[in-house]
Amino acid sequence: MTTISTNESSPARGQPVAAGAALLRTGPDRDCPLCPRLADFREAARAREPQWFNAPVPSFGDTDAALLIVGLAPGMQGANRTGRPFTGDYAGDLLYATLLEYGFAKGVYQARPDDGLTLVDCRISNAVRCVPPQNKPLPAEINSCRQFLIATIQTMPRLRAIVALGRVAHESTLKALGLRSSAAPFAHGATHQAGALRLYDSYHCSRYNTNTRVLTPEMFRSVFAQVRADLNK
Ligand code: SF4
Repeated sequence: MTTISTNESSPARGQPVAAGAALLRTGPDRDCPLCPRLADFREAARAREPQWFNAPVPSFGDTDAALLIVGLAPGMQGANRTGRPFTGDYAGDLLYATLLEYGFAKGVYQARPDDGLTLVDCRISNAVRCVPPQNKPLPAEINSCRQFLIATIQTMPRLRAIVALGRVAHESTLKALGLRSSAAPFAHGATHQAGALRLYDSYHCSRYNTNTRVLTPEMFRSVFAQVRADLNK
């Protein structure tokens, strides 16, 4: 585990901030224009699939949760279609099964937003709220959307643990906390202590990563087993 100095001037500095929370916008407008390429992509998806959600996907779970999971961005046929993070594609199958196993969710995951599944002491968000072409947001888009990640973190007063799914989520979370990535290099299974927060790294639970065995279900479960053990201390 690395311990990161948090004495830099920063928006969050490794500490959730509740003060002024009501003034922070944790979610963008449905027609957020800040990333023109993604706005165009969103409009094209609306024209092609008018029944789909096709908008910035809001976070899922209560703001008083101790655990925040940060993904990369909505998948076209997953969260972009259904409107709930990780819902409707393979990544959600593994994520929600794991959350149910470790008590961070209850109910039955049925890959649709009205399946009644609820999160327990857990919230899920994305580094980028709009679906990007080929699942690859540009650096400028990650930077533009970070304001919503910062606000999400700052409005979680009980936050103690963040699981970053993949390198992009890891680096954007570090920046949201006002920390340098050189102080906390990404590695699957690595943990980084930043003030009162602990950041846990995992490879993203995408179908590609699991098909290529970059990430096995056991590797993924081990991350959440550690989070559960730490939060139970
Ligand atoms: S990715 Fe984020 S900042 Fe960019 S258009 Fe979507 S909601 Fe706005």
